[in-house]
Amino acid sequence: MTPPVRKIAVLGATGSIGGSTLDVIARHPDRFRATVLTAQRNVDGLAALCATHRPELAVIADPALEGQLAQRLRAAGVHCEVASGHDALTAAAAGPLCDTVVAAIVGAAGLDSSLAAARSGKRLLLANKESIVMAGELLLRALAEGGGELIPVDSEHNAIFQCLPGGRPDLEASGVRKLILTASGGPFRGRTRAELAGVTPDEACKHPKWSMGRKISVDSATLMNKGLEVIEAHYLFGAPVDRIDVLVHPQSLVHSLVEYLDGSVLAQLGNPDMRTAIAHALAWPTRVDAGVSVLDLAASGALVFEKPDLATFRCLALAYQALRAGGDAPAILNAANEVAVEAFLAGGLPFLSIPDLVESVLMELPRADVVDVQSLVERDRMAREVARRVLRCAC
Ligand code: NDP
Repeated sequence: MTPPVRKIAVLGATGSIGGSTLDVIARHPDRFRATVLTAQRNVDGLAALCATHRPELAVIADPALEGQLAQRLRAAGVHCEVASGHDALTAAAAGPLCDTVVAAIVGAAGLDSSLAAARSGKRLLLANKESIVMAGELLLRALAEGGGELIPVDSEHNAIFQCLPGGRPDLEASGVRKLILTASGGPFRGRTRAELAGVTPDEACKHPKWSMGRKISVDSATLMNKGLEVIEAHYLFGAPVDRIDVLVHPQSLVHSLVEYLDGSVLAQLGNPDMRTAIAHALAWPTRVDAGVSVLDLAASGALVFEKPDLATFRCLALAYQALRAGGDAPAILNAANEVAVEAFLAGGLPFLSIPDLVESVLMELPRADVVDVQSLVERDRMAREVARRVLRCAC
């Protein structure tokens, strides 16, 4: 029997994950339809995507740009509803126009819409790792209340999901010993601290294997991305921190592994192209063509694995530390990192000072219990304020 056509909201449609998602959707009009598309400020990009994919609703997060978007769509002959603002975006994630939500907004800005999708029982395809890092327990609770399902899009977590029996089972009962996340090592793998002193944002964003947005590219260069992923894996799969390892694998062909009690290690492999994970999550439990070239292992050369250098790439160690501290420490870590990365990209903070800034904020704001979304958002705001003050003092 053919599965019903999925009605998909792509939040962050103008971004890297958004583009890859729309590419997969367009390949399967009999299975998928993009019904809601959103962006922050990129009116031209969003209007062009609407002209191609003909959604029922387009949302621009910046309310000042709603008129401009409506005008562009009229000019292009696109007849869809137009809305703007953060609340409209959150309402769209929970609303009747979609049954599936691809959470591909970057940063903490994606939290409310991820929560709204979870609460309203959608299939949530989570790329926005920051929302689960900030609010892991709350997001899982919302998901349980809503009765929907979460399929990870982050390639490592999607790989683990594929290597576990039944997606997100009880690890103990399934005989899982360890989850092993692979990391490419980023563009600066093998460099010493001295060699990293003067690196520029463009150098940090030149990832050797993946084409991604600028924020996650910097996170990959500092290894904070892997740190966020360790936290994400903890919440997604209920894995204790000591059972989540990181292995550097520069070829980026093995996307992660699961080690079982009997000595078996299952891995998921594929070319480094996010469309594989996206297609898997969209079509699960079936499979569809993602447009990705076939992995040719005979031509790929040796696969290398090594331990991460935690002394040079301190962000990964800080993320483990925040996860061990528990409570809202991961949210504090995430907020401080977002401020640090923004400052680095704007030329206002050296690369090596990113972990220093994050560490200062973690020290000034010791962990507190996570009570609800409001208090979490307040702690996120405080962490950003402290980070900006530390940043001003450092200049
Ligand atoms: P991009 O920077 O390429 O795209 C971000 C998207 O979010 C854009 O559509 C942008 O709109 C929108 N956006 C940004 N800020 C806001 C805001 N405040 N409110 C509403 N929308 C906003 O990011 P990526 O696609 O690289 O990453 C998206 C998420 O997926 C991140 O959480 C990242 O960690 C995760 N991820 C990404 C991977 C990748 O390969 N790129 C791999 C795994 C995970 P506009 O264009 O208007 O600015």
